Amino acid sequence: MDTIELNGRRYRRPTRPTAVICADGCDPSYLEAGFAAGALPALARCRDAGFYALADAAMPTFTNPNNVSIVTGVSPAEHGIAGNFMLDRETGAEIMMTDPELMHSDTLLALMSRAGVATAAVTAKDKLRRMLGHRLEGICFSSEKAPPDVEAMVGRGRPDMYSADLSLFVLDAGIRLVEEGKASLLYLSLSDYVQHGHAPGEAEALSFHAELDRRVARLVELGCVVGITADHGMNDKALPGGEPHLILVEDLLNERFGAGSVRVICPITDPFVRHHGALGSFVRVYRKGDAPVEAMAATLRALPGIDEVLDRDEASRRYELPWDREADLVVTGDRNTVLGATASEHDLSELAGHRLRSHGGRGEQVVPFVLSHPVSAEYRAKAGSARLRNFDIFDYALNGVTN
Ligand code: ZN
Ligand code: ZN
Repeated sequence: MDTIELNGRRYRRPTRPTAVICADGCDPSYLEAGFAAGALPALARCRDAGFYALADAAMPTFTNPNNVSIVTGVSPAEHGIAGNFMLDRETGAEIMMTDPELMHSDTLLALMSRAGVATAAVTAKDKLRRMLGHRLEGICFSSEKAPPDVEAMVGRGRPDMYSADLSLFVLDAGIRLVEEGKASLLYLSLSDYVQHGHAPGEAEALSFHAELDRRVARLVELGCVVGITADHGMNDKALPGGEPHLILVEDLLNERFGAGSVRVICPITDPFVRHHGALGSFVRVYRKGDAPVEAMAATLRALPGIDEVLDRDEASRRYELPWDREADLVVTGDRNTVLGATASEHDLSELAGHRLRSHGGRGEQVVPFVLSHPVSAEYRAKAGSARLRNFDIFDYALNGVTN
């Protein structure tokens, strides 16, 4: 069989090594700043001689939903992963969304590997490893917990969890796998550690993206088709004085409507959020008892910094989210605003001296969509006529590239 079918799309088997990079938190403004500084020659070649566009990430603009969208080719409504963290409506338990049992779709990586394609999934964040590797008969590891044989292959020890090298190690491992002929389909998922800490144009951000660029150049030199997109963008979420522009939604609603009226879940929560206090621009409100949903929505809508407040049905429809797992209200912050639950749940001390940068809302939905090679007229037309999504990237890399 020359093609693999998944969720209504047919994918061609790779005819040469194909690497898709999910550059975590890579807002298009990082690439623009890099281009302006002349720091991204390989990506500039992709832009000029390959394919360069902007695409929309899936909502909420968090890591797990978008990584799973990219490897399944569909929105969270279809694959079921709607956050990094969730409240299980049946048990009331608050759980990390890392268990592949929560996924309602196979991944392209699993199907390709089972069809005999040498496939590798390498992730910076170990929390993604089990979902990306679900039913994958090939190579799957994280740089966060790189085993000794991977350390030997890359030629250095596993990086610190909170470092730029957590991502660069992933790319170096991908390069080694291609050099050794061990993988012809690769998914390389990075971490947004640098982007949470540094705005486009800052030295640390420029040097990180220049390192990314050098590794893209190497993959292209090795004969790869390279696709680069992001799981979400990143925006400044601080007030002019430097403190975070924060709305504590659970505290606010329980004060207004009575203690214990609601529980608020921050689906950004994961082991990596130390640097941003588990604050993102998307939260879920679960009503307890008979708190008035409409009145709560109206209260929230009146606050400066709130982007949208949607009920369960509307949120599922508009943001393409799984209805069975959705909350009573979905609340998003605007480009400059983050939302939290209660004051005691968010430790802001780690932020000391830094402006908060984060993601989760519609303001972080636009991401780069880059290919090292040109795409066919059909795919150019497709990109021009419909909203391009970050989870179209495997389709473009495998089916769209012409030569
Ligand atoms: Zn992310
Ligand atoms: Zn993040």
